[in-house]
Amino acid sequence: MAVVETRKLTKVFKQGELGAVNEVDLETREGEFLVFLGPSGSGKTTLLRMIAGLESPTAGEILIGGKVVNDLTPRERRIAMVFQSYALYPHLTVYKNIAFPLKAQNVPKHLHKEKVEWASSLLGIGALLQRKPRELSGGERQRVALARAIVREPSVFLLDEPLSNLDAKLRLSAREELERFHRRVGTTTIYVTHDQVEAMAMGDRVMVLNKGVVRQLGTPKDVYDDPADTFVATFLGSPPMNLIENGDLIIGFRPEHFRLAVDMKETDKVLFKFRVDNVEYLGAEFILAGVLVGGKADGKKVIARLLLGHSFEVGVTYDFAVPARELKFFDRTTEKKVPARAISWQ
Ligand code: ADP
Ligand code: MG
Repeated sequence: MAVVETRKLTKVFKQGELGAVNEVDLETREGEFLVFLGPSGSGKTTLLRMIAGLESPTAGEILIGGKVVNDLTPRERRIAMVFQSYALYPHLTVYKNIAFPLKAQNVPKHLHKEKVEWASSLLGIGALLQRKPRELSGGERQRVALARAIVREPSVFLLDEPLSNLDAKLRLSAREELERFHRRVGTTTIYVTHDQVEAMAMGDRVMVLNKGVVRQLGTPKDVYDDPADTFVATFLGSPPMNLIENGDLIIGFRPEHFRLAVDMKETDKVLFKFRVDNVEYLGAEFILAGVLVGGKADGKKVIARLLLGHSFEVGVTYDFAVPARELKFFDRTTEKKVPARAISWQ
Protein backbone atom coordinates (compact mmCIF):
# COMPACT_ATOMS: atom_id res chain seq x y z
CA MET A 1 0.00 0.00 0.00
CA ALA A 2 1.31 3.42 -0.88
CA VAL A 3 2.32 5.51 2.12
CA VAL A 4 1.20 8.69 0.36
CA GLU A 5 -1.09 8.77 -2.61
CA THR A 6 -2.71 11.67 -4.41
CA ARG A 7 -5.55 11.46 -6.92
CA LYS A 8 -6.11 14.33 -9.31
CA LEU A 9 -4.91 16.67 -6.61
CA THR A 10 -5.49 20.27 -7.62
CA LYS A 11 -5.04 23.70 -6.09
CA VAL A 12 -6.39 26.84 -7.70
CA PHE A 13 -5.65 29.92 -5.60
CA LYS A 14 -7.64 32.37 -7.71
CA GLN A 15 -10.68 31.29 -9.60
CA GLY A 16 -10.26 31.60 -13.32
CA GLU A 17 -6.47 31.42 -13.09
CA LEU A 18 -4.24 28.50 -13.92
CA GLY A 19 -3.94 26.09 -11.01
CA ALA A 20 -0.78 26.10 -8.89
CA VAL A 21 -1.13 22.29 -8.83
CA ASN A 22 -3.11 20.48 -11.52
CA GLU A 23 -4.51 16.95 -11.25
CA VAL A 24 -1.43 15.38 -9.73
CA ASP A 25 -1.57 11.59 -9.46
CA LEU A 26 1.14 10.16 -7.29
CA GLU A 27 1.93 6.99 -5.36
CA THR A 28 4.93 6.82 -3.10
CA ARG A 29 6.62 3.51 -2.43
CA GLU A 30 7.30 2.31 1.09
CA GLY A 31 10.59 3.72 2.33
CA GLU A 32 11.51 5.54 -0.84
CA PHE A 33 13.20 8.90 -1.19
CA LEU A 34 11.05 10.76 -3.69
CA VAL A 35 12.10 14.15 -5.01
CA PHE A 36 9.80 16.87 -6.37
CA LEU A 37 11.92 18.81 -8.83
CA GLY A 38 10.90 21.93 -10.70
CA PRO A 39 11.67 25.60 -11.18
CA SER A 40 10.48 28.25 -8.77
CA GLY A 41 6.71 28.61 -8.92
CA SER A 42 6.10 25.12 -10.33
CA GLY A 43 3.86 24.13 -7.41
CA LYS A 44 6.24 22.02 -5.32
CA THR A 45 5.57 23.72 -2.01
CA THR A 46 1.82 23.88 -2.59
CA LEU A 47 1.73 20.16 -3.35
CA LEU A 48 3.74 19.35 -0.25
CA ARG A 49 1.60 21.62 1.92
CA MET A 50 -1.57 19.89 0.73
CA ILE A 51 -0.09 16.49 1.60
CA ALA A 52 0.87 17.84 5.03
CA GLY A 53 -2.60 19.26 5.60
CA LEU A 54 -1.47 22.90 5.69
CA GLU A 55 -3.29 23.84 2.50
CA SER A 56 -6.74 22.62 1.48
CA PRO A 57 -7.09 21.17 -2.03
CA THR A 58 -9.49 22.67 -4.55
CA ALA A 59 -10.13 19.17 -5.90
CA GLY A 60 -8.79 15.67 -5.63
CA GLU A 61 -7.84 13.32 -2.83
CA ILE A 62 -4.90 12.67 -0.54
CA LEU A 63 -4.48 9.20 0.93
CA ILE A 64 -2.07 8.14 3.62
CA GLY A 65 -1.72 4.43 4.28
CA GLY A 66 -4.69 3.84 1.98
CA LYS A 67 -7.07 6.16 3.84
CA VAL A 68 -8.39 9.46 2.54
CA VAL A 69 -7.06 12.17 4.85
CA ASN A 70 -8.45 15.32 3.22
CA ASP A 71 -10.39 16.11 6.38
CA LEU A 72 -7.68 15.23 8.90
CA THR A 73 -5.55 17.85 10.64
CA PRO A 74 -1.79 17.91 10.02
CA ARG A 75 -1.19 16.26 13.38
CA GLU A 76 -3.65 13.45 12.69
CA ARG A 77 -1.80 12.66 9.45
CA ARG A 78 1.37 11.63 11.32
CA ILE A 79 3.51 13.57 8.92
CA ALA A 80 6.61 15.57 9.74
CA MET A 81 7.52 18.55 7.63
CA VAL A 82 10.79 20.47 7.61
CA PHE A 83 10.69 23.82 5.85
CA GLN A 84 13.24 25.86 4.03
CA SER A 85 13.36 28.21 6.99
CA TYR A 86 13.23 25.87 9.96
CA ALA A 87 12.91 27.97 13.08
CA LEU A 88 14.31 26.64 16.32
CA TYR A 89 13.19 28.19 19.60
CA PRO A 90 16.19 30.37 20.51
CA HIS A 91 15.54 30.40 24.25
CA LEU A 92 15.21 26.61 24.53
CA THR A 93 18.05 24.09 24.69
CA VAL A 94 18.54 21.57 21.90
CA TYR A 95 16.95 18.95 24.16
CA LYS A 96 13.84 21.06 24.68
CA ASN A 97 13.64 21.98 21.03
CA ILE A 98 13.64 18.31 20.04
CA ALA A 99 11.18 17.38 22.79
CA PHE A 100 8.80 20.20 21.84
CA PRO A 101 6.49 18.18 19.54
CA LEU A 102 6.21 15.47 22.22
CA LYS A 103 5.10 18.03 24.74
CA ALA A 104 2.65 19.55 22.27
CA GLN A 105 1.14 16.12 21.73
CA ASN A 106 0.95 15.26 25.42
CA VAL A 107 3.34 12.33 25.16
CA PRO A 108 4.00 11.36 28.82
CA LYS A 109 7.09 13.13 30.08
CA HIS A 110 8.94 9.98 31.19
CA LEU A 111 9.10 8.91 27.53
CA HIS A 112 10.69 12.15 26.32
CA LYS A 113 14.26 11.37 27.35
CA GLU A 114 14.40 8.08 25.53
CA LYS A 115 12.87 9.53 22.35
CA VAL A 116 15.06 12.63 22.32
CA GLU A 117 18.15 10.47 22.83
CA TRP A 118 17.11 8.17 20.00
CA ALA A 119 16.52 11.05 17.57
CA SER A 120 19.63 12.98 18.55
CA SER A 121 21.91 9.97 18.32
CA LEU A 122 20.55 9.19 14.84
CA LEU A 123 21.63 12.65 13.79
CA GLY A 124 24.91 12.66 15.70
CA ILE A 125 24.01 15.56 17.96
CA GLY A 126 23.82 13.67 21.26
CA ALA A 127 26.60 15.81 22.72
CA LEU A 128 24.83 19.09 21.98
CA LEU A 129 21.63 18.61 23.95
CA GLN A 130 22.31 21.27 26.57
CA ARG A 131 23.32 23.99 24.09
CA LYS A 132 21.17 26.82 22.83
CA PRO A 133 20.62 27.26 19.07
CA ARG A 134 22.95 30.29 18.92
CA GLU A 135 25.82 28.05 20.09
CA LEU A 136 25.42 25.78 17.05
CA SER A 137 26.74 25.90 13.48
CA GLY A 138 24.29 26.11 10.57
CA GLY A 139 24.66 22.39 9.88
CA GLU A 140 24.08 21.49 13.52
CA ARG A 141 20.96 23.62 13.66
CA GLN A 142 19.65 21.85 10.64
CA ARG A 143 20.23 18.50 12.29
CA VAL A 144 18.32 19.68 15.37
CA ALA A 145 15.40 20.62 13.10
CA LEU A 146 15.50 17.13 11.59
CA ALA A 147 15.70 15.49 15.01
CA ARG A 148 12.68 17.51 16.08
CA ALA A 149 10.84 16.30 12.99
CA ILE A 150 11.59 12.60 13.52
CA VAL A 151 11.07 12.45 17.26
CA ARG A 152 7.39 11.65 16.75
CA GLU A 153 8.35 8.79 14.43
CA PRO A 154 6.27 10.07 11.54
CA SER A 155 5.05 7.78 8.80
CA VAL A 156 6.24 10.27 6.19
CA PHE A 157 8.85 12.98 6.06
CA LEU A 158 8.26 16.05 3.95
CA LEU A 159 11.28 18.26 3.36
CA ASP A 160 10.91 21.55 1.51
CA GLU A 161 14.30 22.76 0.24
CA PRO A 162 15.86 22.14 3.65
CA LEU A 163 19.41 22.75 2.43
CA SER A 164 18.86 25.97 0.53
CA ASN A 165 20.04 28.22 3.36
CA LEU A 166 23.42 26.49 3.62
CA ASP A 167 26.55 27.49 1.72
CA ALA A 168 27.80 25.24 -1.07
CA LYS A 169 30.25 23.21 1.00
CA LEU A 170 27.90 22.68 3.91
CA ARG A 171 25.15 21.81 1.47
CA LEU A 172 27.15 18.91 0.14
CA SER A 173 27.92 17.47 3.55
CA ALA A 174 24.34 18.06 4.73
CA ARG A 175 23.11 16.27 1.62
CA GLU A 176 25.29 13.24 2.35
CA GLU A 177 24.11 13.30 5.91
CA LEU A 178 20.47 13.31 4.85
CA GLU A 179 21.09 10.37 2.54
CA ARG A 180 22.77 8.41 5.32
CA PHE A 181 19.98 9.35 7.71
CA HIS A 182 17.34 8.16 5.28
CA ARG A 183 19.11 4.82 4.85
CA ARG A 184 19.15 4.38 8.63
CA VAL A 185 15.54 5.31 9.48
CA GLY A 186 14.03 4.13 6.20
CA THR A 187 11.04 6.49 6.53
CA THR A 188 9.29 7.37 3.28
CA THR A 189 10.54 10.83 2.38
CA ILE A 190 9.37 13.47 -0.07
CA TYR A 191 12.05 16.03 -0.74
CA VAL A 192 11.48 19.27 -2.64
CA THR A 193 14.21 21.03 -4.57
CA HIS A 194 14.76 23.21 -7.64
CA ASP A 195 18.32 21.87 -7.89
CA GLN A 196 18.56 19.12 -10.48
CA VAL A 197 21.95 17.92 -9.19
CA GLU A 198 20.51 17.45 -5.72
CA ALA A 199 17.49 15.66 -7.18
CA MET A 200 19.62 13.28 -9.24
CA ALA A 201 21.98 12.59 -6.34
CA MET A 202 19.38 11.95 -3.67
CA GLY A 203 16.23 10.63 -5.28
CA ASP A 204 15.21 7.00 -5.65
CA ARG A 205 12.70 8.59 -7.99
CA VAL A 206 12.30 12.13 -9.27
CA MET A 207 8.99 13.78 -10.13
CA VAL A 208 9.54 16.71 -12.49
CA LEU A 209 6.95 19.48 -12.23
CA ASN A 210 6.32 22.50 -14.38
CA LYS A 211 3.41 24.92 -13.96
CA GLY A 212 1.78 22.58 -11.49
CA VAL A 213 1.76 19.67 -13.94
CA VAL A 214 3.75 16.44 -13.58
CA ARG A 215 6.00 16.18 -16.61
CA GLN A 216 7.70 12.93 -15.68
CA LEU A 217 8.13 10.55 -12.75
CA GLY A 218 10.99 8.08 -12.83
CA THR A 219 14.42 7.13 -11.56
CA PRO A 220 17.17 9.73 -12.00
CA LYS A 221 18.42 7.62 -14.90
CA ASP A 222 14.97 7.54 -16.54
CA VAL A 223 14.48 11.28 -16.41
CA TYR A 224 18.02 12.05 -17.55
CA ASP A 225 18.42 9.43 -20.28
CA ASP A 226 14.86 9.21 -21.47
CA PRO A 227 13.15 12.57 -20.93
CA ALA A 228 9.41 12.64 -21.64
CA ASP A 229 9.49 16.09 -23.21
CA THR A 230 11.77 19.00 -24.05
CA PHE A 231 11.11 20.65 -20.69
CA VAL A 232 12.51 17.66 -18.79
CA ALA A 233 15.29 17.29 -21.36
CA THR A 234 16.55 20.81 -20.76
CA PHE A 235 15.76 21.15 -17.05
CA LEU A 236 18.04 18.24 -16.18
CA GLY A 237 21.69 18.44 -17.11
CA SER A 238 24.16 21.28 -17.01
CA PRO A 239 24.80 22.50 -19.61
CA PRO A 240 21.36 21.40 -20.83
CA MET A 241 20.56 19.13 -23.74
CA ASN A 242 21.05 20.66 -27.20
CA LEU A 243 17.78 20.91 -29.14
CA ILE A 244 17.69 21.31 -32.88
CA GLU A 245 14.52 21.82 -34.91
CA ASN A 246 14.40 19.65 -37.99
CA GLY A 247 11.16 19.52 -39.98
CA ASP A 248 8.34 18.44 -37.68
CA LEU A 249 10.79 17.14 -35.09
CA ILE A 250 13.06 18.51 -32.41
CA ILE A 251 16.26 16.50 -32.13
CA GLY A 252 18.07 16.48 -28.80
CA PHE A 253 21.52 15.37 -27.76
CA ARG A 254 23.49 16.01 -24.62
CA PRO A 255 26.70 18.06 -24.63
CA GLU A 256 28.70 15.12 -23.25
CA HIS A 257 27.88 12.94 -26.26
CA PHE A 258 29.99 15.00 -28.62
CA ARG A 259 33.38 13.53 -29.57
CA LEU A 260 35.91 14.50 -32.14
CA ALA A 261 34.88 12.42 -35.15
CA VAL A 262 38.29 10.71 -35.28
CA ASP A 263 37.84 9.52 -31.69
CA MET A 264 34.40 8.04 -32.19
CA LYS A 265 34.36 4.25 -32.30
CA GLU A 266 30.64 3.86 -32.95
CA THR A 267 29.87 3.24 -36.59
CA ASP A 268 26.32 4.56 -36.41
CA LYS A 269 26.98 8.22 -35.82
CA VAL A 270 25.95 11.68 -36.91
CA LEU A 271 28.76 13.92 -38.13
CA PHE A 272 28.77 17.65 -37.49
CA LYS A 273 31.08 20.47 -38.36
CA PHE A 274 31.34 22.53 -35.20
CA ARG A 275 32.78 26.02 -35.11
CA VAL A 276 34.04 26.86 -31.64
CA ASP A 277 33.11 30.35 -30.43
CA ASN A 278 34.02 30.03 -26.78
CA VAL A 279 36.16 27.67 -24.71
CA GLU A 280 35.79 27.17 -20.98
CA TYR A 281 38.45 25.10 -19.30
CA LEU A 282 37.00 23.56 -16.14
CA GLY A 283 39.94 21.47 -14.96
CA ALA A 284 38.55 18.04 -15.78
CA GLU A 285 36.78 19.03 -18.99
CA PHE A 286 36.15 21.66 -21.62
CA ILE A 287 32.83 23.32 -22.26
CA LEU A 288 32.74 24.47 -25.86
CA ALA A 289 30.08 26.83 -27.16
CA GLY A 290 29.74 27.14 -30.88
CA VAL A 291 27.62 26.70 -33.97
CA LEU A 292 27.05 23.85 -36.37
CA VAL A 293 28.23 24.54 -39.90
CA GLY A 294 26.58 23.19 -43.06
CA GLY A 295 23.57 20.93 -43.64
CA LYS A 296 20.08 21.47 -42.22
CA ALA A 297 21.42 22.43 -38.81
CA ASP A 298 23.64 25.19 -40.20
CA GLY A 299 24.02 28.06 -37.77
CA LYS A 300 22.41 26.27 -34.78
CA LYS A 301 24.02 27.09 -31.46
CA VAL A 302 25.22 24.09 -29.50
CA ILE A 303 27.25 23.27 -26.44
CA ALA A 304 29.74 20.42 -26.21
CA ARG A 305 31.39 18.95 -23.15
CA LEU A 306 34.64 17.16 -23.78
CA LEU A 307 37.16 15.55 -21.53
CA LEU A 308 40.71 16.81 -21.72
CA GLY A 309 43.08 15.30 -24.24
CA HIS A 310 42.78 17.81 -27.05
CA SER A 311 43.08 21.53 -27.16
CA PHE A 312 40.46 23.66 -28.86
CA GLU A 313 40.79 27.10 -30.32
CA VAL A 314 38.18 29.77 -30.75
CA GLY A 315 37.23 30.36 -34.39
CA VAL A 316 38.33 26.92 -35.58
CA THR A 317 35.84 24.43 -37.09
CA TYR A 318 36.24 20.83 -35.93
CA ASP A 319 34.72 17.56 -37.14
CA PHE A 320 32.56 16.28 -34.31
CA ALA A 321 30.27 13.29 -34.03
CA VAL A 322 27.42 12.12 -31.81
CA PRO A 323 26.47 8.42 -31.59
CA ALA A 324 23.12 7.92 -33.37
CA ARG A 325 21.70 6.04 -30.36
CA GLU A 326 22.14 9.16 -28.20
CA LEU A 327 19.77 11.26 -30.29
CA LYS A 328 16.39 12.02 -28.70
CA PHE A 329 13.31 12.80 -30.74
CA PHE A 330 10.48 15.14 -29.80
CA ASP A 331 7.40 16.29 -31.65
CA ARG A 332 7.83 19.92 -32.62
CA THR A 333 4.23 20.84 -31.76
CA THR A 334 3.63 18.93 -28.53
CA GLU A 335 7.32 18.87 -27.50
CA LYS A 336 6.73 15.33 -26.25
CA LYS A 337 9.00 12.36 -26.85
CA VAL A 338 8.37 10.37 -30.05
CA PRO A 339 10.03 7.17 -31.32
CA ALA A 340 13.42 7.49 -33.00
CA ARG A 341 13.44 7.62 -36.77
CA ALA A 342 15.92 8.03 -39.56
CA ILE A 343 16.51 11.68 -40.41
CA SER A 344 18.63 13.53 -42.88
CA TRP A 345 20.94 16.29 -41.72
CA GLN A 346 22.07 17.22 -45.19
P1 ADP B 1 7.38 26.30 -5.76
O1 ADP B 1 7.43 25.78 -4.38
O2 ADP B 1 7.57 25.25 -6.82
O3 ADP B 1 8.32 27.46 -5.98
P2 ADP B 1 4.72 27.24 -5.05
O4 ADP B 1 3.95 26.02 -4.72
O5 ADP B 1 5.24 28.04 -3.92
O6 ADP B 1 5.89 26.87 -6.05
O7 ADP B 1 3.84 28.20 -5.95
C1 ADP B 1 3.13 27.73 -7.08
C2 ADP B 1 2.26 28.86 -7.62
O8 ADP B 1 1.22 29.16 -6.72
C3 ADP B 1 3.01 30.16 -7.83
O9 ADP B 1 2.52 30.75 -9.00
C4 ADP B 1 2.68 30.97 -6.61
O10 ADP B 1 2.73 32.34 -6.89
C5 ADP B 1 1.26 30.52 -6.32
N1 ADP B 1 0.95 30.59 -4.88
C6 ADP B 1 1.57 29.92 -3.89
N2 ADP B 1 1.02 30.17 -2.68
C7 ADP B 1 0.01 31.05 -2.93
C8 ADP B 1 -0.97 31.70 -2.08
N3 ADP B 1 -1.01 31.48 -0.78
N4 ADP B 1 -1.84 32.53 -2.69
C9 ADP B 1 -1.83 32.74 -4.03
N5 ADP B 1 -0.96 32.15 -4.86
C10 ADP B 1 -0.04 31.32 -4.32
MG1 MG C 1 8.71 26.27 -2.81
